[in-house]
Amino acid sequence: MDLYEYQGRELFERHGLPVLSGGVATTPEEARAIADRLGGRVVVKAQVKVGGRGKAGGVKLAEGVDEATARATDILGMDIKGHTVHKVMLTVTADIAEEYYLSYLLDRANRTFLCIASVAGGMEIETVAETDPDKVAKIAIDAIQGVDEAKAREIVAAAKFPADVSEQIVDIAQKLWVAFIKEDATLVEVNPLAKTPEGKVLCLDAKVTLDENSHFRHPDQEGFVDAASVDPLEQAAKEKNLNYVKLDGSVGIIGNGAGLVMSTLDVVAYAGENHGGVKPANFLDIGGGASATVMANGLEIVLSDPAVKSVFVNVFGGITACDAVANGILQALQLLADRGEQVTKPLVVRLDGNNAEAGRAILDSAANPLVERVDTMDGAAARAAELAAAGV
Ligand code: GDP
Ligand code: MN
Repeated sequence: MDLYEYQGRELFERHGLPVLSGGVATTPEEARAIADRLGGRVVVKAQVKVGGRGKAGGVKLAEGVDEATARATDILGMDIKGHTVHKVMLTVTADIAEEYYLSYLLDRANRTFLCIASVAGGMEIETVAETDPDKVAKIAIDAIQGVDEAKAREIVAAAKFPADVSEQIVDIAQKLWVAFIKEDATLVEVNPLAKTPEGKVLCLDAKVTLDENSHFRHPDQEGFVDAASVDPLEQAAKEKNLNYVKLDGSVGIIGNGAGLVMSTLDVVAYAGENHGGVKPANFLDIGGGASATVMANGLEIVLSDPAVKSVFVNVFGGITACDAVANGILQALQLLADRGEQVTKPLVVRLDGNNAEAGRAILDSAANPLVERVDTMDGAAARAAELAAAGV
């Protein structure tokens, strides 16, 4: 889960990192009140979960309360790379003498953590990384050893931070590491990490990604969840304990087992190439012991996606035998009908594995006009893609 800057800033503050005081506003009036409280000279920043706000005109300095209110009015409602600005953060403004860059992230390729640090921070850091890679230091961090004072000094030396700020950065690098680990983040990025003309180092931006798998041990992070930005179908699926991910195609997918569902996505995308580029509409793993209720919940989620034109139910019977799954599908359709859901989209079902014959026989004798049975995964994928392409 990506955080908004104001949430990342709050998290930095909790861990003792140097941030400037501020507040968040959703209206110009609220912005005025905050600017007034902060003394008038503020920076107004668009809160959207996308980088490059500065270049897009979403970060503005204001010399007084009226100007701050005007800038907030300009920025609220602005579109930044497809993200509408609903909130602005106002903070006391700092004068900047130098801009540095510091981040920790999970380096999946090398199976370690990585620190990226540079004295050439600011809005051009991506360009610097490309044209002047020597100015961007990358230091591997051992997960067990972490960043102690010695490691922090290694980072400062590798990035060639100037001597006058080195002690402050040694401290910041350690605190940022604690924030990274304690909050179970996969990214913490400070850009700019700024030096003021007086020589004080401040975190002027905060980009944080938290590992959602660790939410159970962070009740305090609950407040960071942004209901408005969560896909409503993903939210509904989560409430029903389903592993659902919305994708952008038109073939609804339901399978048992994450590996099977992932390969189903591939097979459908491949088959879809013959039908004008039809693609899977979602990932949905209903797990091992898929009961009729779980199947009904899964179908309800998938069918309520308006983009879905056909559904491919791909089940390899294991612990749950195919006859149970077949009954589950039929009961699920009945359940949906009882709930008043008009099911009109075709279902292609492939059953294989434990008790496949019995499962197929159940579907055949039920002869539900919406359910079509295909015995092979490739064949079923092709049929589902064909139906989606033909669907309205
Ligand atoms: P981003 O473009 O989305 O990364 O947004 P940032 O928060 O990094 O802001 C962009 C730029 O605005 C920074 O690189 C700074 O140059 C500038 N900026 C941000 N906060 C302040 C501030 O408090 N004072 C001054 N003078 N400039 C700031
Ligand atoms: Mn930034």
